[in-house]
Amino acid sequence: MTGRIAIVGLGPGAPELVTPLASETLAAATDLVGYAPYLARLPERVGQRRHASDNREELARARQALELAAEGKAVAVVSSGDPGVFAMASAMFEAIETGKSAWKDIDVTVVPGVSAMLAAAARVGAPLGHDFCVISLSDNLKPWDLVLKRLEAAAAGDFIIVLYNPASKARPWQLGDAFRLIARHRASSTPVIFAHAVSQPDERIDITTLADADPANADMRTLIIIGSSATKLIAKDGRPAFVYTPRHAELALP
Ligand code: SAH
Repeated sequence: MTGRIAIVGLGPGAPELVTPLASETLAAATDLVGYAPYLARLPERVGQRRHASDNREELARARQALELAAEGKAVAVVSSGDPGVFAMASAMFEAIETGKSAWKDIDVTVVPGVSAMLAAAARVGAPLGHDFCVISLSDNLKPWDLVLKRLEAAAAGDFIIVLYNPASKARPWQLGDAFRLIARHRASSTPVIFAHAVSQPDERIDITTLADADPANADMRTLIIIGSSATKLIAKDGRPAFVYTPRHAELALP
């Protein structure tokens, strides 16, 4: 008997942001596969097995899930946020494409989740209201020169820019370089949002400007949104400002 695999997005952290379909799919699984901290978010269920792994072992984890499904298990592979955004769904399809031919017959579904950028944007208003680009700053899986090329194009194109994976202990300097590159194209007053651990108990949201953006303020659990030339701030007395990008845009390119 062939089993099945669902690649499930858990959202940014808060249980209320797990979709009903994700909850149903997790409840129906015989086996859960994923990065240990993501599995730790889920309630223990009698009879359900957990296969926790390291964050860097995506392809190995995907193959493990496929082996389990080939044995007839109902496997849920979990990701934070949305599983298709810098996450497990692509690793799963790569494993299927390059793996055993029988794996192509396994029933695979992707269950979407609330990606960190959507939860972060919602916290401050509507910064992603117009055209935006999403870039992972991690150079673990691509050369840094490609990151720079894409940042340059996004900055020159006056896109709102969302940065995933902005910094980690092993990558302390990249974000400063990214801010400097973008500052060559944008006003120093451009709004910048640091959204740390959105929807989790230690959530912290800082709204600042490109001139004042401090790279040391970001870590592995931070997402950054840099406004376009149209992104605006609505200041409120004693409370955090709203940030939004209007639905209309003018040609602001040089
Ligand atoms: N699939 C995930 C992204 C995984 S990449 C999603 O759709 O959200 C990991 C990066 O996502 C982190 O380095 C951070 O930049 C961002 N991230 C994930 N969860 C977050 C949260 N709760 N708050 C802020 N950023 C988060």
